[in-house]
Amino acid sequence: MLEMDLLSHTLRHAGERISPKSWTLSDGTRVTLHDVGILSFEPAKPGPGDIVLSAGVHGNETAPQELLNGLVTGLINGALRCQNRLLVLFGNPLAMAEGVREVEANMNRMFSGGHRQYLSTASAEAERAALLENSVEAFFTQRQGSRYHYDLHTAIRASKRERFAIYPFRHGKPWRRAQLAFLANGGVDTVLLSHDPTHTLSYFSSDRFGADAFTVELGKVRPFGQNDLERLAPFRDQLIALIEDSSPNLSEPETLTVFDVAQVIIKETEDFRLHFADDAANFTPYPRGTLLASDGVAAHRVKAEEEAIVFPNAKVANGQRACLTVVPVGADQPFE
Ligand SMILES: [Zn+2]
Repeated sequence: MLEMDLLSHTLRHAGERISPKSWTLSDGTRVTLHDVGILSFEPAKPGPGDIVLSAGVHGNETAPQELLNGLVTGLINGALRCQNRLLVLFGNPLAMAEGVREVEANMNRMFSGGHRQYLSTASAEAERAALLENSVEAFFTQRQGSRYHYDLHTAIRASKRERFAIYPFRHGKPWRRAQLAFLANGGVDTVLLSHDPTHTLSYFSSDRFGADAFTVELGKVRPFGQNDLERLAPFRDQLIALIEDSSPNLSEPETLTVFDVAQVIIKETEDFRLHFADDAANFTPYPRGTLLASDGVAAHRVKAEEEAIVFPNAKVANGQRACLTVVPVGADQPFE
C-alpha cells in the first residue's frame, strides 16, 4: 500500500528512485508502484484496453495531476473498478515539486529519443524521460491490447477554446472518428491534426506502439488548490468509462471543431519576436499577410486566408517551436 495518495507521494519523493512494490486490491487487481510517480493496475481478468494516462510532464500544470490523483485514489479505495490495464504516470516530479513548468528543459521535446540530445544539459529531465519511455514500452508490449494514451496538460495562456487536443502525426494512417467523439463528448471539442513527427510523449506512444494517443489541453495553468475540477467532470467521466470498460460516450458529438496545423514556427535566433499582443489568446485568428513573427531577417506571415495562433511563446530555446498556426481541416484528410 501507499502510505499517502500518489500525488503527495510523488511530490515528497521527487528526484528519488525507489524499488518497485506491489500489492493486490480486494477484487484481485495487482497494483505496482514501479518508481516515483509510475503506477500500474493489472486486473485479474483485464478487458481489451491498455490505457496510459499521464500528467505533470510540465510540472506546474496541476489540474491534470489532481484529476489523475483522484482517479488513482478511487481505484485504490474501491470507489472505481479497474477493468482494463492502466498505467498512470506523473511525468516530471522535480518540476512538479518546485511548481515550475520545467527544471532545465522542456520534457515534452525529449521523447522518441529526443532525450539523448539533452543528456549533457538537462540530465535529470532527460533521464526521467527515458524512464517514462521504458515504462510505457514495458506496459504496452506485454500484450497486443487496444492501446490508448492521453497525456494531460494545461496551457500557459488564455484560450478562445478552453479545452483542445493535439492529434499526433499518423504518417498517413486515417484519423479516428471514434477518438474525436471520445474527446468531444468529454468536453474536449477542438482537435488539431498534426502533420509532422515530433518529440512529444503522445507522438511517442502513437508512433512506436500504434496507440490512440493525444496531448490534451484542459484549461489554463493554475497552482494547486485553484483548479475547478468540476469543469473537467465530463472528461473525467469518459476516462472512468474507459478504465471501467463500461462504454465511453462515442455518440456523434454536438460540437466538434477540427483544425489542421498549418505552420510550425521555430525560433532560430535570439532576435526572435512575436508581432501580436502578448496576451493574445490561443486560437486568435489573423488574416493573410499578417506578420506573426520575425527572426533576424526571416519573417513568418499568415499564408492562408486566415490562420489562428496556438501556443505562442517567444521564450523557448533556440531550435524549438515558438508558435503554431491552424486552419480549418482540409477536405483531403482521411478519417475512419
Ligand atoms: Zn504542458
